Amino acid sequence: MKKILVANRGEIALRVMRTARKMGIATVAVYSQADRNAPHVRFADEAYHIGNPPSSESYLVMEKIIEVAKSSGAEGIHPGYGFLSENSAFAKAVTAAGITFIGPKTHAIEVMGSKLAAKDAVKSYDIPMVPGIDHAIEDPKEAIKIAKEIGFPILIKASAGGGGKGMRVVEKEEELEDQMKRAISEAKSAFGDGSVFIEKYIASPRHIEIQVLADTHGNVVHLFERECSVQRRHQKVVEEAPSVVLTPELREKMGQTACDVARACDYVGAGTVEFLLDENLNFYFLEMNTRLQVEHPVTEMITGVDLVEQQIKVARGEKLSFQQSDLSISGHALEVRVYAEDPMNNFLPSIGTLETYQRPSGEGIRVDDGFEEGMEIPIYYDPMIAKLITYGKTRNESILRMKEAIKAYKIEGIATTLDFGMFTCNHDAFVSGKFDTHFVKNYFSPDQINQENKEKKALAAKLALSYYLKEQQKVKIPTPLTSSWKDHQ
Ligand code: ADP
Ligand code: ADP
Ligand code: MG
Repeated sequence: MKKILVANRGEIALRVMRTARKMGIATVAVYSQADRNAPHVRFADEAYHIGNPPSSESYLVMEKIIEVAKSSGAEGIHPGYGFLSENSAFAKAVTAAGITFIGPKTHAIEVMGSKLAAKDAVKSYDIPMVPGIDHAIEDPKEAIKIAKEIGFPILIKASAGGGGKGMRVVEKEEELEDQMKRAISEAKSAFGDGSVFIEKYIASPRHIEIQVLADTHGNVVHLFERECSVQRRHQKVVEEAPSVVLTPELREKMGQTACDVARACDYVGAGTVEFLLDENLNFYFLEMNTRLQVEHPVTEMITGVDLVEQQIKVARGEKLSFQQSDLSISGHALEVRVYAEDPMNNFLPSIGTLETYQRPSGEGIRVDDGFEEGMEIPIYYDPMIAKLITYGKTRNESILRMKEAIKAYKIEGIATTLDFGMFTCNHDAFVSGKFDTHFVKNYFSPDQINQENKEKKALAAKLALSYYLKEQQKVKIPTPLTSSWKDHQ
């Protein structure tokens, strides 16, 4: 493979292109009108305009992207995450055009794209699942019967759901019918598929996922876990590897289970198997994401494996160059997703221009981003602008480094989740490791950031005052000099 097209934008497009370049592979970018000056366009060896800003007219138009790949002579297409990455029709069309899809086979994307089909596929492998049903449900009476058997609270989930969308918690029987109707209509409009099912709502879970890697020669390995329990709207904001709660035995067991999930769908490439872990350390299979995950860098930091490089090698038909026993965890990594969102205002998107944008740098700091100072954050796409990743020999070291890096990260013009990252790194529950997916709900309120900012300002004022007083003492300017200076004005 001498040239690949990256069918994505932002930080992930750049991240993929960097590895391609490192491997001596030329890169082709595609871009919408809104991204014509974006860094991924400038970084690529070639770049082609594919349409208007809305993704439905650009990054989601399969025909245009495949056409660009053909005319530019790209031999492979990397889909990144989001957009077409989990679209089996796209993978099929790419392959049919004689181009390598850098990702799993169509079958795996199809099976794992539906949470119900996924549950069905792994049945023969003895994979622990969240108590619930394994078929779509429409009849509220049947739903009530099932919910009573499982026990409230329950969760109604969209089979085709993703990105934390399409989930409804139901606390009691009276609410079930109404919530179910809403869930079905939401699922239809958001995913074009109204199938919903019921799962027990695990009260205090942690989100633990396992990175897997499989080649076309039947080898499957896992690259340990990532903990992604710090979430807002069921979506991750802070991630880390390894997790503080896994013992080596549990890690091995979850790792092997994840490899079995991969085998169950003949998985090829890099994928992620997501689990919930309850208070008694029982784990349950949630879903498999058949793509590179947003938070993959923390795994790269602790294993030393470049996951994009592995994806490309697997796509070229190469055998994995390592076995499970060659892999080990070294140190600790943390990631804060820097979203253009305002934590003070319910994490709502904060649009505007990056008036100031200065990245932190230094030992153990990695910034994966796709923006530069002066750029506008387009409203058309996911509001994530960067990922701040820190590495340390210990968890404490990575947390300390994260705090330093957040302080050094200067972003003005829009609100971001950096302040929330600082809040997390300072919170006892996070530092002690005693937290679950309700971290935000249980501990976070805008007042706290306000309070921290106030304290910061008060401290800054105090420092400024003492500095001023010291300077006053130092600069005891003799009267004649002062007057002569004045005379010259
Ligand atoms: P990850 O699962 O990689 O940790 P997210 O859940 O935040 O990360 O999703 C990654 C990206 O993919 C986001 O841009 C999200 O909006 C998008 N995404 C994930 N699943 C879907 C889906 N089923 N439909 C639309 N977008 C999705
Ligand atoms: P998505 O496809 O949107 O990523 P997931 O099934 O992976 O959906 O779930 C996303 C998040 O929602 C989980 O990390 C967890 O916080 C919460 N969640 C999902 N299922 C359950 C459940 N049965 N009980 C409690 N929380 C859940
Ligand atoms: Mg998920």
